Order: sequence, then C-alpha cells, then structure tokens
Amino acid sequence: MKKIIVCIIFLMSFTMLGCQDNGVELAYEEPVTLEEEVIAKEPFTDPLLNYYQIDASLDPETSIITASQTIEYTNNETVDLTEIYLHLYPNAFTKESQPNLFGNSDEMSDLGGQIEITSLSIDGKEVNFLEGPTTTSVELSYAFKKNETYTIELDYLVSVSSTSERFGVANDIYNLGNWYPILAVYDEEGWNVDPYLSIGDPFYSDMSNYDIKMTVPKGYIVAGSGYIESLKTLENKTTYSFRADGMRDFAFVISNQFEYIKSQLNDTTVYLYYPKSVKKHKWLEDAMLFSLEAISSFEEIIGDYPYKTYSVVLTNFPSGMEYPGLVFISKGYLLDSIHALRTVIVHETAHQWFYGLIGDDEIDEGWIDEGLTTFFTAYFEIEYSGEHFYQDTMKRYQNRVNEYGFDNVVVAKSAKEFDNWGDYGVAAYSKPALMYHEIYTIYGDEKMKAFAKYIYEHYAYGILKEDDLREALIAIYGVEINELLDTWLY
Ligand SMILES: [Zn+2]
Repeated sequence: MKKIIVCIIFLMSFTMLGCQDNGVELAYEEPVTLEEEVIAKEPFTDPLLNYYQIDASLDPETSIITASQTIEYTNNETVDLTEIYLHLYPNAFTKESQPNLFGNSDEMSDLGGQIEITSLSIDGKEVNFLEGPTTTSVELSYAFKKNETYTIELDYLVSVSSTSERFGVANDIYNLGNWYPILAVYDEEGWNVDPYLSIGDPFYSDMSNYDIKMTVPKGYIVAGSGYIESLKTLENKTTYSFRADGMRDFAFVISNQFEYIKSQLNDTTVYLYYPKSVKKHKWLEDAMLFSLEAISSFEEIIGDYPYKTYSVVLTNFPSGMEYPGLVFISKGYLLDSIHALRTVIVHETAHQWFYGLIGDDEIDEGWIDEGLTTFFTAYFEIEYSGEHFYQDTMKRYQNRVNEYGFDNVVVAKSAKEFDNWGDYGVAAYSKPALMYHEIYTIYGDEKMKAFAKYIYEHYAYGILKEDDLREALIAIYGVEINELLDTWLY
C-alpha cells in the first residue's frame, strides 16, 4: 500500500513542479504532514525486495517492546509455496535456556526473553499460525503463489531478557539483535528453519528493505542498522524513524546512557556510540579512527560500502557481533589492549562485506563469512601495521591448527556439528583464514584483490555458497585451485 502512496506523492510533486513552470496555480501547496514525510523518503534501490515496516515502542520500566509489523513478501521462488516461516529468536532467551556466547551464565537473569504474537493476518484475512519445527519459529500456512506479493501483518510483544548477549538488557543498555519476526530463507534445500544455536552466529536471511519506527522515552539514544529519516519528540517520548535500503537484518542498541561522536567518510556517516561512563576514555577517538580506516580500506580492497551510516556501538557484550550497518563491540576492550580493540572493530567492519553485503548461510557454512573476515582482518594490517604483523597473526592461527592436527579440523561443516566454540573457532575462523593465506602466498597480492572484487561484483546482495566460492576462485586462479581447496576444506 505504502509503495502506491509513494508513487502518487512523487507524481504529485512532479506535477506541482510542471504546473509551476507553466504558471498554473496549484490547489495543494501545503501538503499535510504525512505527505511531507512521504515526499522526504528516498526510493529503495531495489523496490522488489521484501519490505518490513515496523512501528515499535520500548518501555524500559517493563523491558517490553510493543510492535506492529507489516511484511510485503513476494514469493520469488520458482514454485508455489504452501507455507512460509518466521524466526522468533527472542524465544530462545527463556530463563532456563538462554543461549550464551562465551559462558557468561552468571549474568543470566530473572527476566527471560519472549516474543508473543497477538494477531496475524495475510492480505487482511486473519490466519492461524502453527509453531514451527523449533520453538524459535512459526509457520504460516497459505497459498503463496510464485511471483505474487502478500501483505503479512502482525502485532506482537517482545520481552527483553536481562543479559549482555545479542538480545538483552544490562545496565540500562538494550542490545536488540534478532528482536523482531524475520522471514526464514527458502533455498535449494527448502526452508531453512534452524534453531538458535549456542555456537556460531546462527542466522541466515535475505536482503530486505526496512522502515522502522522506534519510540523510546525522551533522553534515550537509539542506534540502528539504517539511517535516521526523522526524529520527533512529543511530550516525554521520542520517535526515531529509520530506513534501511537493502540490508539483511535490522538491529538496535538503545540506552539512556549513550553519547556518540560521528565522522563523515564520503557518503557515509560513521557513528561511535558509548556509555557516558567511558566518555573520557583515551581510546574513543582511536575506536572511531579504526572504524574509518577499516571502511576505507575494505572499500578499496573489496567494493563500495553503499550505506549512509555505519554505527559502532560500545556496549555490554562478551566480544564483537556484526549486524548490517551496526556492530556491537564489548566496552570491555577499553580495559584490554588497544590492539584487541582495533582487531575486533576491523573484524566486525569486514563483516559488513562478508555476511552483510555478500551473504551466506551462517549455520551450514559459517566458515564462509568468518574465514574471509578473519583473513581480510589480518590482511588489512599489512598496510597499517606492516607485513610482520600479518605474518605473526598467521603464525598464531597456524599454531592453533597444529594443536588440533591439520586433518582433524574439517572446515566445511555446519555449526550444528560443533559442541564448543574452541573447535568451531579453529574450523570456521583460523583454518580457512590460513587457506586464503596460502593462496595469497602462492599467487600474490594482485590476484587476492581481484578475487575479493570478483565475489563482491557477483554476490553483493546475494548469497555465496561453497560452490559459488569455488567458481569464483577458479575464475581467478584457474581450475588447479580445486586441489588446494579440497586439502583445506575437508
Ligand atoms: Zn566474525
């Protein structure tokens, strides 16, 4: 519906201009507020992507988000579908079984997370929904014909658990990763409805467009994946209107404790959000500088960062976590070393290309984005800290792989097959990074950059699978690269 309004308003504005040129008087010189807002909206680059509109409000007294959401979903598959799935990731954060990244279970809480759908309709018709194959999914049965677009509307309540994980509140900072119902991906294996695993980043999603309103009490700062289109304060509440043009998820970090600094890099505004308690920390400007250097370097090596904003958020979190346009960085790194802070910022920034732009199935093939990210994080340092720095990093990875034994570490494995982060880390991060290191050592710098640009050109906004990666490597290095890949991946 909104798309149609946008077209009409655009037409109207062109008409107005045309009429003025001809000296014709206009009937509608004072558009109503709604129209003004719509006129201000820039069109999406790809209007055919699934489109999420969410109107949400966070009440910090109860840590509950009340939301209404519309998804304009188009069945772009080659078959008619009888059902689709939405992930409800907050349901993973029950009191009893919250996923915890690095075992900080003592922080887990009295308050569990949950998402409760209170109404759901498709094209205006109320539909029943069934629990999906996991507790973190829901199945919608309907006749979804190929190439047809459906409007899914739902109302829901989200309770935010009290923990410092991807989804949780601690010390008045709300980490809102994976907080809203998001469509599962349908691919050649059918629907991907995996549970929220405790290992890896267990997410897989398609590019979408977003308009999200988040209302918070006045004084709260909202950092989001997209850019802020408008900001309105009415009495004691502020509504942030965000838009994201072609992103595969949308995360927030919200707090009444935040301040931020910002800096401009070409068309992108880079924000660094931090709790006021660390406002005098001597590394804040360094953190901003690392973010700017990383974007600018990866733009040169891989391809353009196409978004208007990039937000680096120092928050309560065990390490670093990437979302499109926004990354969580543990504020604990400010007590660690400047090198650790730099590495994690560069790593999460590299994920804006590997996972963000060039997507992958992070459950079954998480090594694709983590391997590329780990390698290019080290590669970044060649220019900034020198070749020895890069070589030292690779030696560390080599030692880790040696500890396990080269043949004992199988890279091309699903996150489901691992039962601890140590094993997953060496398989999905260290060993594939070493594989690219070997390719770089044999074939040199120019080809490595050509490879990075190749996958950007062919897979930005899409999904890169193992076969695609092979094809890309063959395109750059020739068919003999297959043997090397088999040695390293299996
Ligand atoms: Zn990573």
